[in-house]
Amino acid sequence: MPFMEISKIEIFTGTVHFLAPFKISLGTSEFSEDVIVKIYADDGIFGLGEAAPAARITGESQETILGASVSIAQNLIGNDTDSMNALLDTIQSTILRNSAAKAAFDTALYDLVSKMAGKPLYRYLGGYRERVQSDVTIGIMPSAEAVTKAQRLLNMGVGIVKMKVGDKIDDDLERVKKVRETVGQKTKIFIDANQAWEPKNAVSAIRKFEKYDIDLVEQPVKASDVDGLSFVRKNVDVPVMADEAVHTPEDAIRIVKSDAADMINIKLMKAGGIYNATKIAAISEAAGLKNMVGCMMEGAVGIAAGIHFALSSKNVTFVDLDSDIDMKNTLTGMRMLPFVEGFREPLDGAGIGIDDVDSNEVKLFRTIKRRSSSRSF
Ligand SMILES: [Mg+2]
Repeated sequence: MPFMEISKIEIFTGTVHFLAPFKISLGTSEFSEDVIVKIYADDGIFGLGEAAPAARITGESQETILGASVSIAQNLIGNDTDSMNALLDTIQSTILRNSAAKAAFDTALYDLVSKMAGKPLYRYLGGYRERVQSDVTIGIMPSAEAVTKAQRLLNMGVGIVKMKVGDKIDDDLERVKKVRETVGQKTKIFIDANQAWEPKNAVSAIRKFEKYDIDLVEQPVKASDVDGLSFVRKNVDVPVMADEAVHTPEDAIRIVKSDAADMINIKLMKAGGIYNATKIAAISEAAGLKNMVGCMMEGAVGIAAGIHFALSSKNVTFVDLDSDIDMKNTLTGMRMLPFVEGFREPLDGAGIGIDDVDSNEVKLFRTIKRRSSSRSF
């Protein structure tokens, strides 16, 4: 079979809008200015990838993603699509950090090569399961609104509710108490403080939340404070998950060495795509830590990539892939991806299962074309 080259790369901008403002301890958002990457092979087949910036977490914006994307595209263009590991390494080594930009290219390549192989991406990656349970997040909001949302999630069949905390402790406790009363004991409740607490305050706060039978606490202290995270983990009963503390495989090793967490939240936007996400899952598995796959504010393309990775990985026990559920638009014309009784399922078809982005929702920023074909046929 003749080898294929990357013949063209298109970079688009697109904005996803939430149904309601989403507040966490780091700030409030109503929309996300994302970037879509489309990587074409010689035969016209293409793969889709999405970058969702999280300025306070990865330091990126739509503008920085566009800049990094042009550099990455210029290094990928004209290369052989069968040299996947070389392409993935090119993405990672083109530029330091810029993890969401890298994730868009990494996942677009995976979409492309799995489409070329005629397989759904999770099967191309070695398929482990057919569906995966997802939590749905309740942001920081008045208790009465949280109760209404919790009731709606219960009606949808959601089995895990993730609650954002780290605002005013009394309000947080009241909200978690009310939601626990609403969902009963069968539903799991996770809390996520998004780095809001100092280690000692975190321990006293978490002890108060433990009254409401919380099942997990996510990133209670600052991302850089691995010792603080370890201190919290040793002083509370509830399992602790590292999120902002782990972007790269190297970060995961640091967490393992410090015994700082029971679980690691892998996000493609932090890790720079599936290539590094796979390494983080391997490090976690070897160290006896489980993984969740989470998200930033990706539309359908980015969420689909996260779902496929989660379906392929044994060490991912559940996911927090819910951003599309609370969106007005997902850049694909679809309202949201399948969410069946609290479980995420893949779309039918090869790759991530998404035919294309919606031309009404995205705007072309740049096209990078191969200068001259090295092909002799
Ligand atoms: Mg988190």
